[in-house]
Amino acid sequence: MSYSNDVKNELARITPERECCRKAELAAMIALAGSVNYENGLSIQLSTENAATARKIFKTYKEIYHIQSSIKVQNRRHFNKTRVYIINTPVDNELQELGLSQDEKYIPRRIQWALLNRSCCRRAYLRGLFLAGGFINRPGADYHLEIMTSDSQMAEDMEKLLARMKIKARTSERKNNLVVYIKGSEKIVDFLRLVGASMALLDFENIRIIKSVRNNVNRQVNCETANLVKTVDASLRQVELIKKLINTGGVEQIPPRLKSLAMLRIDYPDCTLKELGTMMNPPLSKSGVAYRMRKLEKIVEELIQDIE
Ligand SMILES: [Zn+2]
Repeated sequence: MSYSNDVKNELARITPERECCRKAELAAMIALAGSVNYENGLSIQLSTENAATARKIFKTYKEIYHIQSSIKVQNRRHFNKTRVYIINTPVDNELQELGLSQDEKYIPRRIQWALLNRSCCRRAYLRGLFLAGGFINRPGADYHLEIMTSDSQMAEDMEKLLARMKIKARTSERKNNLVVYIKGSEKIVDFLRLVGASMALLDFENIRIIKSVRNNVNRQVNCETANLVKTVDASLRQVELIKKLINTGGVEQIPPRLKSLAMLRIDYPDCTLKELGTMMNPPLSKSGVAYRMRKLEKIVEELIQDIE
């Protein structure tokens, strides 16, 4: 399985709590990849190779609009066998808000900004775009994430949406399509964070930590290795604990004084406690940081236990 597919599986399994976000997700998929089908009465058609995405589409229509879609499975032969799920949904007046043209004859390829007033919806919309036309490289050498479209207005809108969320994207042509893409691990990590792909985020962060640890090792060849390994192990443990808490939504319960230390730890996984101390405001001594870190670890462990 491709890495893209893993990330899509994760994203497809997220069900936003709010209705506004579920609509935004669906609208994104329709704007990017939907078409109007006249075969058995008027319907909106969406195709995907990802089964979890097909389920998400089906469930959203059903639970938000109480409309029953039909799903057809087609086996297509590319390089390897792929299955395509084709979802057809009878057009209902209510679906107009998702981006069908007034005369219900076509789907305009553009973002409906009216659906994106809230930041929760903007994130959900991005998730929908990625599910419908996204691709991401496995973290490693070439950091690349893209969303493909056949339409220049849509490409322009996607770039605008990403810019609004502080992610600089570019557009390039590929055969008859346009590709809106993001390069660089930091921007891709931002994207994954926005769309809520926490597992993928961990893949990227782990590689980043390993790389920065390596750099650190290179920088400090004279440093006693055992000591460094100890520092790194402790840091990895701390970062993992804190991230676990962030993913379960419990991070707000950390007292503010300790929270700033937690955030510094995540941002600078390869720094020693002494270095973290100099970054604090006001600065703290190494022993002061060590004391707070012990406290932080204890609190985080307790909070995670509470949640679990
Ligand atoms: Zn929302």
